[in-house]
Amino acid sequence: MRKKILAANWKMNLTHTEAEAYLSALVSEIGEVNDVEIVIIPPFTAIPALALASAKTQFIRLGAQNMHWEKSGAFTGEISAGMLRALYVKYVIIGHSERRLLFGETDELVNRKIQAALNTGLRPIFCVGETLSERDAGKEQEILERQLREGLKTVSPKDFSELVVAYEPVWAIGTGRTATPLQAQEAHAFIRSVLASLSDQGVAERVRIQYGGSVKPENALEIMRQKDVDGALIGGASLDPRTFAQCIRGTEAALE
Ligand code: PEP
Repeated sequence: MRKKILAANWKMNLTHTEAEAYLSALVSEIGEVNDVEIVIIPPFTAIPALALASAKTQFIRLGAQNMHWEKSGAFTGEISAGMLRALYVKYVIIGHSERRLLFGETDELVNRKIQAALNTGLRPIFCVGETLSERDAGKEQEILERQLREGLKTVSPKDFSELVVAYEPVWAIGTGRTATPLQAQEAHAFIRSVLASLSDQGVAERVRIQYGGSVKPENALEIMRQKDVDGALIGGASLDPRTFAQCIRGTEAALE
C-alpha cells in the first residue's frame, strides 16, 4: 500500500513568523493525521523556524523547493542538499515547471539534482508535466517519457522507492484549470508504466505519484480517489492553513 502524500508548495510566499503561525493554525485544524503524510515546503528562510515546530508534531515533514547538486563551493545564492538535511528537511522539489521555464533548468540539471539529493538522503519530489501546446499536439506521453528517462538516467532502480513523482501539467498550475480525474489517472498510469520499463513492475508499484495543478478542497476528493494518484502537490490552495486542512480531509475521505 502506498501511503498518500500531500505537500504544500508555498513558492515565494510567507515569512518565517507567518510560517510559525500557519503551522499552529494547521495543527489545530487537523489534529493528528496518521494515514496521510503531510509535507510543508516553505521558502528556505522559513525552514529553521519550521524545523523546530514540526519536530514537535511527528506527522508533519519538511521539504525544500530547490537545491544545488554540488556539496559546497563557489555557487553564490545556492543551497546544498547537506545544508537542508542539517535542518531536518526530508523532501526536496526538483524540476518544478517554474524552475524549468523561468530559470532554464534542463533535464540534465534535474538529473544531477535528483542524484545529489538521493546521495545525501533527501527524497526528491520529481516534477514532470507537459505544456498546453504539447498536450494539444498530442505529445504529452512523449514529453513525460523524456523527462522521466532523462531525469532518472543515473538513478539506480533500487532507489526508486525513495522518489515521489509529481505529475504537474503546466497548463493546470496556478491557472484554476484542473486535469479531470480521468486525465490525471491516465497520465499517472502512463508514468508508472515508464517507471516499470526503467526498473520492473514491483518497483514501479512502490513509487508514489502525486498530482499537482489547481488542487483545492472542491476537487481533492475525486482526484485522490484515482487508483494511481497517491497524493497531491498543492500551491495556491496550500497558502491558507484552513484550505490546506480541507484538502487533507478530502484525501482522508478518499481512503474510506
Ligand atoms: C505547484 O506549483 O506545484 C502547483 C500545483 O500550484 P497550484 O496548486 O497553485 O496550481
